[in-house]
Amino acid sequence: MKTKQCDRCSKKASISLEYGPHHYCEAHFTKFFDNRVKKTIRKYKLFKPGEKLLVAVSGGKDSLVVLHLIHKYYSRSNEIEVLIIDEGVKGYRNKAITTAKKHCKEKGIKHKVISFEDEFGITNDDIMPLLKQNPKLGGTCAFCGTMRRHIMNKYAKKIKADKLITGHNLDDEVQSFVMNVFNNDFSRLIRTGARAGIIEHVGFVKRIKPLYETPEKEIIAYCAFNEIEHYSQECCPYSWSAKRNEFREMLNNFENRFPGTLFSTLRFNEQLKDNLKVSKEKKKEFSEKLKACSKCGEPTEKKFCNTCELIAKLQDEKKKTKKSKTKSANKKYNKKLTCATTKYNK
Ligand code: SF4
Repeated sequence: MKTKQCDRCSKKASISLEYGPHHYCEAHFTKFFDNRVKKTIRKYKLFKPGEKLLVAVSGGKDSLVVLHLIHKYYSRSNEIEVLIIDEGVKGYRNKAITTAKKHCKEKGIKHKVISFEDEFGITNDDIMPLLKQNPKLGGTCAFCGTMRRHIMNKYAKKIKADKLITGHNLDDEVQSFVMNVFNNDFSRLIRTGARAGIIEHVGFVKRIKPLYETPEKEIIAYCAFNEIEHYSQECCPYSWSAKRNEFREMLNNFENRFPGTLFSTLRFNEQLKDNLKVSKEKKKEFSEKLKACSKCGEPTEKKFCNTCELIAKLQDEKKKTKKSKTKSANKKYNKKLTCATTKYNK
């Protein structure tokens, strides 16, 4: 097979993007990649010069690439801080956190680590057995995601950040869209986008996604070409419980067979949302319904926010476990006692 030449110079192409098709050498791919992210930021008006940006970094490829680009192009116009969340998954999270911290130190970026343990008194390692015991409660990722968003929003408000940046990429966005369709979850569907959520409210810091139009495969190539060290050795041990994996596989198969499927699905989602635009009155109505959660003070429509409700469910489950452990310990003890008494009576 003839080796492809870079579309922009005489060098040999290092990457071929079938949806274009485009063929680029490493330097021209980097340029193309950077320009697309900058274009996404302009097109969706993700942030303005002077705004304070909080970047949520996990230590994985997506969040480290977004941090790399925000630092490369916007550190002179915007104040940048990093938030690293420790969900408490032994042997996995601690290694990723070390990588995330290393990047922040090298770039001289202020960073903060907040753990589930500190914030909620429970870790993902504690949650997993409780959910196994009572699968009706839901999957680990649903709990983990809600708790993470809670920490991100709370900390962003604390440091007075104007925007909260996450590393969500094109694949994540399309997976969410398809999952929402399959789950008939209309309210989540309208909340997706480069600027997540529909409500503008002082209690919520706007979450934005500069990698919204960037395919995951290209992020992997970008890390390799630009030597961006990231944590990739192991996946979270609880990710097997994510329904999302099934959707990822299905969409990857489609993209391989019909290049461009991810982009066209994203555009379809945008057109759909444009036609379903929530009116200003409706948005006002939504935000007027919000009040402070009676427990933690975060915005919610109910008495308690989703996070506090989930934590309460976990605590109940924990209590049940304790009770059943005490019961079985008592049973064993009584059995021993009966045996001893029987022996004695004999
Ligand atoms: Fe949390 Fe699920 Fe991600 Fe693991 S895979 S860190 S449980 S959201």
